[in-house]
Amino acid sequence: MPLFHSLKVKFVAALVLLVSLVIGLSTWWTLEVHRGHMLHATEDKVRALTEAIDRGIHVAMREGRSQDVQRILEEVGRDPDIEKIIVFDTHGKILRASQVDLVGRVLDRDRLSRYLDQADLAVARVHENGRLVQSVVKKIRNRPECFACHGAGEAVNGILHVDMSFRKTQEQIAEMEGMALWTMLLTAAVLAAGGAILMVRLVERPVGSLIRAMAKVEGGDLETRAGPGQRDEIGRLAESFNTMVDRLKAARAEIEAFHHQRLARAEHLATLGELAASLAHEVKNPLAGIAGAIQVMADELPEADPKREIMREILEQVHRLDKTVRDLLAFARPGKPDIGPCDIHQVLDRVLILLAENPAAKQVRVVRAYQAGIPSLDADSKQLGQVFLNLLLNAIQAMPTGGQITLKTTMRPVCVPRTGREIDGAEGNAPMAGDRGVEVALTDTGPGIPPHLLQDIFNPFFTTKHRGTGLGLSVSRRIVEDHGGWIEAESSPGQGATFRVWLPVGPVTHRTGEPLP
Ligand code: ADP
Repeated sequence: MPLFHSLKVKFVAALVLLVSLVIGLSTWWTLEVHRGHMLHATEDKVRALTEAIDRGIHVAMREGRSQDVQRILEEVGRDPDIEKIIVFDTHGKILRASQVDLVGRVLDRDRLSRYLDQADLAVARVHENGRLVQSVVKKIRNRPECFACHGAGEAVNGILHVDMSFRKTQEQIAEMEGMALWTMLLTAAVLAAGGAILMVRLVERPVGSLIRAMAKVEGGDLETRAGPGQRDEIGRLAESFNTMVDRLKAARAEIEAFHHQRLARAEHLATLGELAASLAHEVKNPLAGIAGAIQVMADELPEADPKREIMREILEQVHRLDKTVRDLLAFARPGKPDIGPCDIHQVLDRVLILLAENPAAKQVRVVRAYQAGIPSLDADSKQLGQVFLNLLLNAIQAMPTGGQITLKTTMRPVCVPRTGREIDGAEGNAPMAGDRGVEVALTDTGPGIPPHLLQDIFNPFFTTKHRGTGLGLSVSRRIVEDHGGWIEAESSPGQGATFRVWLPVGPVTHRTGEPLP
C-alpha cells in the first residue's frame, strides 16, 4: 500500500497541519498584541524622557546655567536606546546635542519648516537609516521667565528633538518569535510522534489483524476469528465479524448438509427411476396382451351378458395401468425433444380442443388472455402440449363441480421463480438473467394447494389423488427445464392455484450444455 494511502500517515499529517495552523495563528495574534504594547511602552518612555529633558533645560536656563544643558543632553544620551537628542533654534541651527559633533550644524529647510508647522508636541515613528525610531519633537516655548534673556518677541525659543531606537523592543520581539517557532515545531513533533504511536496501537494493529482475519475467511478458512480486541468501535467490529463468520460457518454446514441430502435423494430417485423404468418396460407388453385378450373375450360375449360389464371394468383398469406405465417411462427415460418453430398459442389451443372431448371439462369455463405478437419458440410442440395437458387436467380434476380456468400469456424477461426453488438444470440450460421469454400462467378456481404441500407437488410419485400416479408435474417440470425454462406453482388455499411456465424465446441449450438437435 502506498505510504500516503496509510491511515496513520493521513491522520498524523492532518493532526500536525491542524495543530501547526492553530498554534501559528494564536502565536501570531499574541505577538501582534505584544508588539503593540511594547511599541506603546517605548513611545510613553520617550515622551516622559522628552518632558524630563525639557524641564531640566528650563530649570538650568532659568538659573542661568545654560552650559549645563549640553551636559544634561550628553548624560541622557549615554543610554544605548537613545539615538540622539538635539536642541535647535527656529533657524534650524543645532545649539545643543547629545553628540557634541552635531552642535553647530544646520537642519535643511524642508525639515525645519515641517518641525515648525507641527504642534507643540509631535510624536512619530520614522525610519532613520533603515531602522525604526521613535521620534518626539517638542517646541520650547518663550515663557515670561525667559523674557529677561530671550526678549518677548519670539513665541518659541527652540525645539527639542529626541530619537529613541526600537532596537531592544525589536530584539525582544525577535526572541519571542523564535521561541514561538520552536514551541510550534516541538509541539508538532510531539503530537506527530504521539499521534503515530496512538494510531499504531489503537487503530493500525487491530485493523491489520482484522484485515488478515478477513483475508483468511475470504480464502475459505471459516475457523479463523479476529483476536480479542479493545473495548472500542474496532473491538465491536471484530466481534461483529466473528459473529458473521460463525453464521457463515453454520450456513455453510447447513448448505452442505442440504446438498448431501439432495444428492442422496437424487441418487435414490435415479436408481428408483431406472428400476421403475425397467419394471414398466416389462409390464408394458404383457399389459397390451391382456388388454387385447380381454377385448377379444368381451367381443365374443352376447350383448346382454352381465359379464360384459365386468370385462369393461377390467379393460378400464388395464388402461389406467397402461397410462401409469407410460408416465413412468416418460419420467424415467424421457425422449429427446424434437425442436422446431413452435407457436405457443397454437399448442395451447390444440390441447384445449383435445380436452373438449373430456366429460369433466364440460363443467369448466376456459378464458384465454393471450398477448398478441408473441414470437415463435424453438421447442418440441408435442412435449409442450403434454405439459399443458397435464396442468389443464390437474386443474379440471381440482374442480369436479365446475369452475374457471384462465390461460394468460405474457412476454417477460426471466426472473427468479417466486417459490425460490432451485432449478435442477442450473448447471446446464437454466435461464440466465436478461433472457427473453414467454410466461404462460394457468389459473383455476379450485380449492388450491395447501402451503405445506407446495414444495412436494413436483416430486415424482407425490399425489393426493386416489387414482393419481404423482408423475404429471414431475414429467412437466423435466420437459420445461429441458427447454431452458422453469415452472412454479402459487396458491392461496381456497382461492385456486396458478401454475406459471416460463419458456425462453430463441435458441435453447440442452441440460448437457449442447445445443438441442
Ligand atoms: P397426479 O395428478 O397424478 O396426482 P401430479 O404430479 O400431476 O400428479 O400432481 C401432484 C399433486 O399436485 C396432485 O395430486 C394434487 O395434490 C396437486 N395439484 C396439482 N395441480 C393442482 C391444482 N390445479 N389444484 C390443486 N392441486 C393440484
